[in-house]
Amino acid sequence: MFLTLKRKWILIVLCFLLVLASVVVYFTAIRPTFMPKPEHVIVIDAGHGGKDGGAVGKTTEATESYLNLEYAKTLAGICEQYGFEVVMTRESMAGLYDPLAPNKKKSEMEKRKQVIENSNPDIVVSIHMNSFPSSEACGAQVYYADGSESGQALADSVSKNLHDNFDNAKLTSKVGDFYVLNVSPCPSILVECGFLSNPNEELLLQNREYMHKFCYHLFCGILQFYRFA
Ligand SMILES: [Zn+2]
Repeated sequence: MFLTLKRKWILIVLCFLLVLASVVVYFTAIRPTFMPKPEHVIVIDAGHGGKDGGAVGKTTEATESYLNLEYAKTLAGICEQYGFEVVMTRESMAGLYDPLAPNKKKSEMEKRKQVIENSNPDIVVSIHMNSFPSSEACGAQVYYADGSESGQALADSVSKNLHDNFDNAKLTSKVGDFYVLNVSPCPSILVECGFLSNPNEELLLQNREYMHKFCYHLFCGILQFYRFA
């Protein structure tokens, strides 16, 4: 009688261990399929900052440096959600320049270059808001560095996605002579998200829903460049 009871307990413990082991194996095996793991490093560069506010909206006085940062953070959140590793050139409204530097613009640009070089990224995306003397100018425009085939491919993919989802976004990417593009050792684009000099876009660009939708489609362009989508 005593031995039978002991055997029963051994059987119960063995069953429990078997169930426990099955649960562990199940979750360990299935976890990698929950998250896509592109494992790409993306530098997201919010243009301007500090004393350099960039373009300013006429009606609301919204600054480009603020909106660039908000768009950069939104895009970063989406990229991270899908398994990308994100490095931001700036994460606050402070300027990237050394406050004691005689030439702040030069100091700021060198800092951006340093962040890009140190993070060894797969792609660089720089975020800006546009401005033009005529208030009628509107729509997002994507730029790439002259002579960069991979930069153009990334720019075209993002342009197509933005154009497919936003009436005014330009389908054709353009060559842009921008410092961040010229110093990036990988496919890099500069996205002018819209015109702060256009009263309609000035309001639209500040709308959180629009901001998220815009960044989402920008991200879809990145995914299609990698042929993940
Ligand atoms: Zn700008």
